[in-house]
Amino acid sequence: MVDDAKPCLNCGEPLRGAFCAACGQAATVQRLTTVSLVAQLFKVFTNLDRGLFHTAFALTTHPGKTIAEYVLGRRITLYNPISYLLLVVGLWLLFVNLLGLDLGAMVNHTAKQMLRETSPALQQRLLNQMEINRLIMVHYDWLTLLLIPVFSFWYWLLLKPSGRNYAENLVFQSYTRAQVTLLFVVPTLLFFAFPALGGYYSWTRLFAYFLFQLWAGRVFYTMPLGQYLIRNIIAMLLSFVTFGTLAYFAAGVYFRYLSG
Ligand SMILES: [Zn+2]
Repeated sequence: MVDDAKPCLNCGEPLRGAFCAACGQAATVQRLTTVSLVAQLFKVFTNLDRGLFHTAFALTTHPGKTIAEYVLGRRITLYNPISYLLLVVGLWLLFVNLLGLDLGAMVNHTAKQMLRETSPALQQRLLNQMEINRLIMVHYDWLTLLLIPVFSFWYWLLLKPSGRNYAENLVFQSYTRAQVTLLFVVPTLLFFAFPALGGYYSWTRLFAYFLFQLWAGRVFYTMPLGQYLIRNIIAMLLSFVTFGTLAYFAAGVYFRYLSG
C-alpha cells in the first residue's frame, strides 16, 4: 500500500490524525505568515486552557494546589515555572522602566528627611546606608533570581518531612516568587501615590513574599500545622539572612572598589 499521508513539517513522519505520532507537532502547522505569527503571540496570553492568564489566575486564586498539581504531572495547562519566572521579571522591569519608577529613591524617602536633622558626624553613615538601600532595591530582582536555588535549598532542607525533593522546591520558589512580583504591581503603584511611606516598601515586599509562600506552602507541603509553621519560618529567616549577606557583601565590594 502506498503511504499517501502528508509528511510532518517538523520531522517528516507521515501524518495520521491531528498530531504527529513521532514528535507531537499539530498536523495543522502551515507555512508562516505575519497573521499567524501575531495570532500565535496573542494566543500565548489568552489561551484559556494553558495561556499566561490561566497560569497567573490559577497561581493567584489557589497557588498551593496549582503548584502541587503541576508537580504531580498536570503540566500541560501551566507555563513552565522557569519560563514563567523569567517572563514575569521581564514584564516587571518593563513596568518599572516604562513608568520611570525610581524604586531606589523611593526606599530612601524617609531617610532623606532624617538626613536634615542628623548631626554632621552621623550624616556620612546615613548617606552610606542610603546608598546601600538604593543599590539593593535597584538590583533586587536579579539578586533574587540568583538566589532562588539557595532559597530552594533552605526550603527543601527544612520542609523535608513533606517529601518534596529539591527540584520540586525549585518549582515552588519559582512560581511563588514570580507570582508575588506580578501581584506587587498594585502595591508599588500605591507606594508611588503615597511616597511618604517609601521607607516601608522593601519590608512590605518582603512580607508579601513571606505571607504568600506561607499560604501556598500550607497546601504544597503536607505536614502538621505547628511543625509546618516553625519549619517554614526558619526557612524564610535563613533565606532572608542569605539575601542580606549577599546584598551587603556586594554593597561592600562596591564601596571598596568601585565607588569614587
Ligand atoms: Zn513530527
